[in-house]
Amino acid sequence: MTRFTVAIDGPAAAGKGTISKAVAAHFGFAHLDTGLLYRAVGAKVLAGGDPVAAAKSLSPDDLQGNLRTQEVAQAASRVAVLPDVRAALFEFQRDFAARDGGAVLDGRDIGTVICPDADVKLFVTASAEVRAERRYLELSEKDAKTTRADVLADVVARDKRDTERAEAPLKPAHDAVIIDTSEMSIAQAVAKAVAVINTCR
Ligand code: C5P
Repeated sequence: MTRFTVAIDGPAAAGKGTISKAVAAHFGFAHLDTGLLYRAVGAKVLAGGDPVAAAKSLSPDDLQGNLRTQEVAQAASRVAVLPDVRAALFEFQRDFAARDGGAVLDGRDIGTVICPDADVKLFVTASAEVRAERRYLELSEKDAKTTRADVLADVVARDKRDTERAEAPLKPAHDAVIIDTSEMSIAQAVAKAVAVINTCR
């Protein structure tokens, strides 16, 4: 078995998760949604915990449960500015990337900080309006009280915090291939990602 790392970064709700899962299934690679780690830490902080202690003691059980709410997403982006939280999560992500058989990691800093030597780096993006609409459709299925305006505000606030933070800000790696999914279907975006990866194998 060999190592092969695919780094997929991009702003909130750009389609990273969907593309990452599809790419991992297509190539038989393992997949890590690194946003879930920050969401788990954010959820622990909402429950009264200390962010750094939470990041240092994260267990697989903490990744279960409903972490896909806007409240948890905001808490995640607030803890994600803390260098000690990022440092505590670094090794787990690095080890995951180095596993035999190939790995796809999606997040904000995979191509820039976690896996600067990844075999393939993708930066998946879309306009804030398109991203908010997609996330709205997803969240409103579970919670009828969700409004489009709230979801757009969440996406814009997280983008701002994620791009402006000093530590590991959201930005494309210099060698990342940008995929703008604003006008693409899921199938088109996945096909594009698979095609890019195939050129690097
Ligand atoms: O990807 P997701 O929306 O689940 O991420 C939640 C938050 O976690 C992001 O808004 C970001 O602040 C943080 N995050 C990060 N670095 C990563 C993944 C997520 O800072 N690699």
